[in-house]
Amino acid sequence: ASEDVATPKRTKDILNRHNLVLKKSLGQNFLTDGNVLRNIISAAELTPEKGALEIGPGIGALTQQLAKEAGRVVAVEIDQRLLPILRETLSPYPTAEVVHGDVLKLDLRQLIEEKFSGLSGISVVANLPYYITTPIIMKLLEEKLPLENIVVMIQKEVADRMAAKPGGKEYGSLSIAVQFYCEAELVTIVPRTVFVPQPNVDSAVIRLRLRKGPPVEVADEDFFFEVVQASFAQRRKTIYNNLGARFFSKENKRDLEALLLEAGIEPSRRGETLSMEEYGRVAEALRNCPT
Ligand code: SAM
Repeated sequence: ASEDVATPKRTKDILNRHNLVLKKSLGQNFLTDGNVLRNIISAAELTPEKGALEIGPGIGALTQQLAKEAGRVVAVEIDQRLLPILRETLSPYPTAEVVHGDVLKLDLRQLIEEKFSGLSGISVVANLPYYITTPIIMKLLEEKLPLENIVVMIQKEVADRMAAKPGGKEYGSLSIAVQFYCEAELVTIVPRTVFVPQPNVDSAVIRLRLRKGPPVEVADEDFFFEVVQASFAQRRKTIYNNLGARFFSKENKRDLEALLLEAGIEPSRRGETLSMEEYGRVAEALRNCPT
């Protein structure tokens, strides 16, 4: 439509007209490509009965498209200078609302309850500020917010790690943390050329479908993640050495070998080869072991 801001020319015009110099420190790289927007929107599976929470609307390129599909859009933006621009670009979309704030400090559970009551499913859809990609996603997941999907554009390298399966060099504690809560799926890869200004890295859109329950039964989630972290502390070391360094003294490290074997894990394996289910077994065995 004529009011869509997502072209390089319209984006530059708006920035010039408002004398706005973008801040690298806030991850301000604005999307100017209609095809990429369509990919993001279709991955989000919105309907008029659903709500979309956007983080960092910028000048509203994605917000406009979300407002065409979802029943309600709430967009959290930290940069006050963008608010008058958003008022302008979002004026044709009364179901879209901008909240001024820092997404990492906001009470998102309360925001969701307040703004989306009556809607049947809430998704986070965003082109995230890259300097805080992981903290934002971990906040959304660890607070166990009532979300259906998280569809976000992030650095390609981070997307690869979030979606990685066991066995490769991308697989690590971030993969397990994300996949504990979600099914992760790479939607599309996005070249740096579609942003104004261009970032230094390529990007990818990733879809995280929130699970109804955890994929492995663990009695103590914090301890499970502690075991995972410890297993990757030194990637080149075996699971035996990494877990030994974290949980055992020199004298009783032998017990760890027996414990791993009993859990069906060869002690000479490296952390990157263990599945989530295997980590669940190791964590349960360690939790029940007097060290
Ligand atoms: N959605 C727009 C687009 O796709 O063109 C802009 C995306 S830009 C990559 C990231 C946006 O996040 C910027 O508008 C930036 O000001 C905003 N932002 C940065 N840090 C934030 C924070 N802590 N809380 C909320 N928004 C933030």
